[in-house]
Amino acid sequence: MATVECRNIRKCYGELEVIRDFNLSIQDHEFVVFLGPSGCGKSTLLRMVAGLEDITGGDLLIGGARMNDRDPGDRGIAMVFQNYALYPHMTVRHNITFGLERTGVGKAEIERRLTPVVDALGLAIYLDRKPVELSGGQQQRVAIARAMIKTPEVFLFDEPLSNLDAKLRGHLRVEIARLHKTLKSTSIYVTHDQLEAMTLADRIVLMNQGRIEQMGTPEEIYSRPATLFAAGFIGTPN
Ligand code: ADP
Ligand code: MG
Repeated sequence: MATVECRNIRKCYGELEVIRDFNLSIQDHEFVVFLGPSGCGKSTLLRMVAGLEDITGGDLLIGGARMNDRDPGDRGIAMVFQNYALYPHMTVRHNITFGLERTGVGKAEIERRLTPVVDALGLAIYLDRKPVELSGGQQQRVAIARAMIKTPEVFLFDEPLSNLDAKLRGHLRVEIARLHKTLKSTSIYVTHDQLEAMTLADRIVLMNQGRIEQMGTPEEIYSRPATLFAAGFIGTPN
């Protein structure tokens, strides 16, 4: 069961408290979007879930097990970043399979997993190319494939579409929604983009200055903003 629980999570950088009293229970198979303005702490939270940042206080549980001190590779998660973070010297194929090779998954098993992932993202004809030979959208597909092939229980996305043009953003948004459904994963998706939040989320967690401002379905957030901040943020172009 890929539940994610944040219990009183805090994060400080020196004196600066950037996440405070963060409490959230995410259900198995839920698609949760952290929405909020730049600097409100979305990435910091996601990176704590991924194990890329230490947790200053509180507890993080995935599938009921405490994760605070567990290595990123040992949490059943995979993350997609805004800037793709591909290895420039490796082919597309190697970028996708490298993580599995490193964790000791056998060649035959890697090949078996590669085909459906590559097909799902339309990457078959690009396998022998280098990232620099691909468009931004294709590179982000490779990054998603690299995450998918790990068959994570929890998918983490940090503004994965921000560097793409509007048309590609629309396409990939639909693909991410489809992958979430077919993989039956639990997804946490960070964005400052309301349209992405409204179309992808089962539940939106609206954040402001390191806290939860409001939480609810897209309909609830959109039609019944509970605070001045929520009312001001929702419906304002970004
Ligand atoms: P978001 O992803 O919502 O834009 P971040 O999580 O990146 O916000 O940042 C939240 C706050 O934490 C910001 O005030 C940012 O300046 C601060 N911050 C993020 N990373 C660091 C760091 N490594 N050291 C110091 N402050 C940081
Ligand atoms: Mg961020």
